[in-house]
Amino acid sequence: MATSILLVDNDQQLTALVKSLLTGRGHEVSHFDSGKEAIDSLSNHKPDLIVVSEQLADIDGVGWIIKLRQVNRETKVVFISSRWRETDVYQQLTKDFGVSLVVHRPLKPLLFGAQIDGELKAKTASELNEGTDTETFMQLKTRFASILPGRLKNMEEIVEQSMANPEDGEAIKEVRRLSHNLKGTASSCGFHHLGETAAQIEQTMNDVIDGKKTLDKNTWDTISRLVGVLHENVKQDFPNELPPPPAAKGEGDDYDDSSMANVLLVGKYNEEDTKKFAQKAIVRLIFSNDPNDALEKAKVTTLDAVIIDMSDMTTDASFDLALKLRGVPGCETLPLAFIHNDEIVARKTEGMHAGASLYLQKPVKDQDMVQAIEYLIALRGRPRILIVDDDEDFTKIIESALGKESMLIKSVTEPSNALSVLEDFSPDLLLLDVMMPNTSGYDVCRKIRAMARWQDLPIVFLTAQSGLDSRLAAFDAGADDYLPKPVATVELLARVRVRLDRMRLMKERADRDILTGLLLRRAFVEALTALHAEAERHKLEFSLCLMDVDHFKKVNDSYGHMAGDRVLAHFGQLLRRRFRVEDLRGRWGGEEFILAFRHEGKETMKGALNRVLDELVTIPFAGDHNEEFFVSFSAGLVSYPQDGTEIEALIKKSDERLYLAKEQGRRRINSDG
Ligand code: GH3
Ligand code: MG
Ligand code: MG
Repeated sequence: MATSILLVDNDQQLTALVKSLLTGRGHEVSHFDSGKEAIDSLSNHKPDLIVVSEQLADIDGVGWIIKLRQVNRETKVVFISSRWRETDVYQQLTKDFGVSLVVHRPLKPLLFGAQIDGELKAKTASELNEGTDTETFMQLKTRFASILPGRLKNMEEIVEQSMANPEDGEAIKEVRRLSHNLKGTASSCGFHHLGETAAQIEQTMNDVIDGKKTLDKNTWDTISRLVGVLHENVKQDFPNELPPPPAAKGEGDDYDDSSMANVLLVGKYNEEDTKKFAQKAIVRLIFSNDPNDALEKAKVTTLDAVIIDMSDMTTDASFDLALKLRGVPGCETLPLAFIHNDEIVARKTEGMHAGASLYLQKPVKDQDMVQAIEYLIALRGRPRILIVDDDEDFTKIIESALGKESMLIKSVTEPSNALSVLEDFSPDLLLLDVMMPNTSGYDVCRKIRAMARWQDLPIVFLTAQSGLDSRLAAFDAGADDYLPKPVATVELLARVRVRLDRMRLMKERADRDILTGLLLRRAFVEALTALHAEAERHKLEFSLCLMDVDHFKKVNDSYGHMAGDRVLAHFGQLLRRRFRVEDLRGRWGGEEFILAFRHEGKETMKGALNRVLDELVTIPFAGDHNEEFFVSFSAGLVSYPQDGTEIEALIKKSDERLYLAKEQGRRRINSDG
């Protein structure tokens, strides 16, 4: 069945464009230029999606959305804005009025079509919640159930002691904290009876703290009674026996923790020993003793790094495996290291080409292995999420949910550590609890926002406090989003992903060329400046290479501009897959590319570049009429500091060498003259 889209807009040109775009993609479009008529139409027919623009015949677009939401809260809305919106208007649109997407004019037809399809495909929050009862969620429930008796006992003990000493204000704060946490976690795990009773206890405590109730024997009697109800709730929520408490940390299931980075070790390792010391690096180790098996594992696991022990393989086989691993979709920028005896040094060039970031000589000391793993993981750059919440069980729930999405998670249960962990862990997103002992999440948030480095860090509050006041306080403190506990893990995931994607897109849009996936000139120069500074400081060399596709004008003229684009895209991808993750790759402009190799002189890199040239010339491309053709490139290669000490001088020199390479007949890498 065709999807129906309601278009509300008073601009003839825009209407024509959007109508033809959407009908062209197989959607049914009904159109109104009057806001009132559009709303009236909803009583007869509910569309799958509403697209509304800035100006309607009788009202402005934003005003219309507010009116719409009074009668219809669920239908997805896409807003076409005529200008860039202030962030607060944007936030209001997306958050308070549930607009799923804001696009700006002029519309980019292809992109807009894809975005609309994306919106139609994406599930709404309520649909997402239906999928909550997954296996993970069951595990979480079981886990929660197993720690519950300890929790209740803890609360009981404090209540009992307090009955003897009813005016103890500290005890009441502790009970409030425990019940508050219980409320959040129990409800998040789907134990609503427990959650409600815990909420009642918290409310009683709040009344005392606010002075609405006096703290005396009576109050503690009430609490004691409610704790009794909690026990009843447990029986209701868990008709069967409670499962045994979880094993102590460091045993058993720790290796299943998907919030850890995955490192594939290829070759013969002593698994037990390796696992023992690798725990220091907090990673999950996957062992494989066969290249084909290693490739299969790379296809089904999100790998963060691979270490190949070459001593049992031929050098060719290990390089070949490295290249194949980088060819697995999603593994283009997989960090690699080789363990070798020492004959490898002579073939370093090939290792560079295959992407080896590190060489470790046998026997590898444990400490070196841990360091290598940490270095490789840092290169990989998985999204990092920091959770600050005093409730450890709750953080475990979140860790497990987000870990499944190949995010790296760190939890802090002591809020006073939050700032130092923030500096060390350098997260891409922060999940923050509001009520914690000795401090509030708002204060933590304010402190973080006061630091220049963290001004753009997405911060999401997760809290059992509900109500408009705490929502506003959260935004006041500088939060980006707010999720009430109980948190449906699926919704949390969706929100976290949206935040991360938005940040990444913002960065990528500014930094990366769409066609080739390589850095744009400005971003490349920025990264090169950092590399240059590092080389100066540590007296290290690096090399720089300008490359230009040969006779590219002829490619366009003979085979079509689209074919030319395909060449550039493919070449960009080849450059991404070859060399080490930490090397820089940029699109300098047109059909010119630029590379920088960290800590490596031109002698090694010339060989590695020649291998890329050999690869490129064998790739058959198809013209717009399916004619087969081949391309090559020419390059100018320079080293710091021999060929120049400043960036400008180095680029100029490599450009001269590139020009010479062209003169000498193209299809070559020129590193002198
Ligand atoms: P040479 O071997 O001397 O480098 O010759 P050339 O034809 O490659 O060099 P020239 O600089 O004369 O032509 C480059 C052409 O590349 C001209 C331009 O239209 C084309 N070009 C630049 N950017 C793009 C692009 O993004 N896509 C396509 N298809 N062509 C592009
Ligand atoms: Mg050219
Ligand atoms: Mg050119």
